[in-house]
Amino acid sequence: MLLLKRCLVVASLLLFSAATLAQVNIYSSRKEALILPLLQQFTADTGIQVKLLTGKDDALLRRLALEGMASPADLLITTDVARLHRAKQMQLTQAVDNGVLQQVVPVAWRDKDHHWFGVTSRARPIVYAPGRVAVEQLGRYEDLADSQWRGRLCLRSSDNVYNQSLVAAALIANGPEQTLNWMQGMVANLSKPPAGGDTDQLKAVAAGICDLTLVNTYYLARLQRSDSRVDNAVAGQLAVFWPNQSDRGAHFNISGMALTKASKHKQHAIALMEYMVSEQAQRWYADVNNEYPVVAGVPMPDVLAAYGQPKADTVSLTRLGELNQQVIKLMDQARWR
Ligand code: FE
Repeated sequence: MLLLKRCLVVASLLLFSAATLAQVNIYSSRKEALILPLLQQFTADTGIQVKLLTGKDDALLRRLALEGMASPADLLITTDVARLHRAKQMQLTQAVDNGVLQQVVPVAWRDKDHHWFGVTSRARPIVYAPGRVAVEQLGRYEDLADSQWRGRLCLRSSDNVYNQSLVAAALIANGPEQTLNWMQGMVANLSKPPAGGDTDQLKAVAAGICDLTLVNTYYLARLQRSDSRVDNAVAGQLAVFWPNQSDRGAHFNISGMALTKASKHKQHAIALMEYMVSEQAQRWYADVNNEYPVVAGVPMPDVLAAYGQPKADTVSLTRLGELNQQVIKLMDQARWR
């Protein structure tokens, strides 16, 4: 009898420690080096252990879906609002009602139902070859359909979520008919079939295969800050142009975080979410990723400051996520491969 009692006490102690284990499990699409030092600092400050699993954005969503409520993940860190919205729609996330997050993350850069919150923002302007394009020739995203760019434009493929979200912003501004015409014009202007990532578009412009493209600025910043002289030389031939400065502003998106529906360490995960929007974390994370902090008053990395202070489109990112499926159909219709 005494032995049984002792066993029960030990069992309940074990259960108790499992339930209160100060730990957060993260699924992140960020490369380990671009997030781990921050997580280690969080552990040093709070005593909460962090376990990190990194992978490709869409693969992480599939994994979460497969694991269901048995998933060990507490926090999902991924990029682009369309993907965060997809995670919410797939019921992989849950709402976080938290005063700090709602206060410091601007309303445009978090989900209206509190399922996801921006951690950094990223811009997708026009990048061009100043030797072949005069700045006076540039104006709006819409102008990329002009016949003056015939055979001079590079774009990555339409299956990329970055372009999908940029098109969603244009769709809100211009409606479906104009957006379809615009995309057909851009497709007609391509110098080669869409292929490769953002860095490949930059290299193609530098190599003279095309004269201008659409990319996220952190790819250009990465080439500039690279240890490789070849990369530096590519970046040296390129310039950033901020489109739509007289109307809706340049397209901005986010990298973001969401509490998983299956989270077993909710309180600690939310503590980490709060930490991610602290000034210290915002500064470090924005700098190593060459992105913009989302929290007002935190300075942007020098490499981005050199590109100027653009007017950003403040369209609701939730809306961009909601329009994603319609956008994919429109891109298909425009034969944007
Ligand atoms: Fe990227």
